[in-house]
Amino acid sequence: MSLAALLAGLDSGAMSARGATEDALSRASRAAGLNALITLTADAARAAAERADAARAMGAPGELLGVPYAHKDLFCTLDVTTTAGSRMLAKFVPPYSATIHEKLDASGAVLIGKANMDEFAMGSSNEHSYFGAARNPWDPDRVPGGSSGGSAALVAARIVPFATASDTGGSIRQPAALCGVTGIKPTYGRVSRYGMIAYASSLDQAGVIATSAHDAALALSVIAGFDPRDPTSVDAPPIDVSDALSMSLAGLRIGRPRQWCGEGIDSGVANAVDAALAIYAEHGARIVDIDLPSSEHAIAAYYVIAPAEASSNLARFDGVRYGHRCAHPKDLADLYTRSREEGFGHEVQKRILTGTYVLSAGYYEAYYHRALKVRRLIANDFARAFNEVDLIAGPTSPCVAFKLGEKLADPVAMYLADVNTVSVNLAGLPALSIPCGFSDGLPVGLQLCAPWWQESRLIGAAHAYQRVTDWHRALPPGIA
Ligand code: GLN
Repeated sequence: MSLAALLAGLDSGAMSARGATEDALSRASRAAGLNALITLTADAARAAAERADAARAMGAPGELLGVPYAHKDLFCTLDVTTTAGSRMLAKFVPPYSATIHEKLDASGAVLIGKANMDEFAMGSSNEHSYFGAARNPWDPDRVPGGSSGGSAALVAARIVPFATASDTGGSIRQPAALCGVTGIKPTYGRVSRYGMIAYASSLDQAGVIATSAHDAALALSVIAGFDPRDPTSVDAPPIDVSDALSMSLAGLRIGRPRQWCGEGIDSGVANAVDAALAIYAEHGARIVDIDLPSSEHAIAAYYVIAPAEASSNLARFDGVRYGHRCAHPKDLADLYTRSREEGFGHEVQKRILTGTYVLSAGYYEAYYHRALKVRRLIANDFARAFNEVDLIAGPTSPCVAFKLGEKLADPVAMYLADVNTVSVNLAGLPALSIPCGFSDGLPVGLQLCAPWWQESRLIGAAHAYQRVTDWHRALPPGIA
């Protein structure tokens, strides 16, 4: 059931929070093979659902009162284990909650658990999780995408109507595309990062995955907003959901970047995206070919900047203050080295090494500083394009969900899964992915990107498409 329908059912009394929560928990247990949850908070969820039902009976407010959901496991939740998909934090119980958790709590939403993810959000397949890969509900032998693979799988399998996620280079949009659901990454600064375990701070942004743009907008409007505890949080005008939902496509100018549609995009994906843009055109939008020339360097720049920031952010995990600590250290150096060696997986270690290297004296100018210049060029490309068009569209991912293990031995192939998403983070723009068809029986995602703070336009354009298509209603085999 959609979030909007569930809210209507709760409002009318046809449904209860307790019932919705039991349903989510039993669906989660039937779909345990997806390995989409790292922690299940069943008892706390039942108690929260009862409180929600009581609050509703008393007429208490709450935008999401009684709605079950899951958090990507990098949002700190007071007294609930928060692992970031890592052995380093496998036993970490935060003494405080992320702002977005506080906001969801205040809205009355019911947390049923913490979703699987690539370790410290590094990955495009969820295979880099210390807790094992999550699986794609469309085909359990395939990846759900990453790093928010658990969140996308939970929503695709209709276990929860929405889940939180984070996107540093595509981790909301790419798994949403591979699992056939809707994921929105807001403008950098729209949603607080306070209490969200950092990967690359200048790129990280929290958002949501849901089954439709309408539902994603409902959840997003709860978590968005200025937070003085996050120094990069921006006091932007709020997203007007009802305004967005009534947007018309007539006259909308949609740019199709040549660089997003060229080499490396599977033909089945390209065909589905072309068909989707034809629907936009049919409903009055104008499709314009555009260029984002610097985006061909986006992956290269991203894989310098993100590891650089990660190497700095992850320095705090030293085995002293919190996180994994090795047994019987000989001395302080041994404590640091072994704790980090045991606590971090290979992908994370590789990125710490890369990041440390590109920041080191002698290489800083050649790599890090250069990547920052490319980042500026990429942002300038978008700014220029948005003088001519209202939205930019293309395939979210170059391919559909791949087989588990298929790209693990080839990191470059894995990194290329984000070829169309990372440039958006480098420019700090809002973007979403919506299901737009199938290739080889697997979902394809359409990415839409808007100028800064224009989430309403994104949501409006996605909702208009979902009003005239059914792709977002398709269910994975065995899911009812
Ligand atoms: N796949 C990209 C990476 O591994 C993006 C991850 C993300 O957005 N968190 O860095």
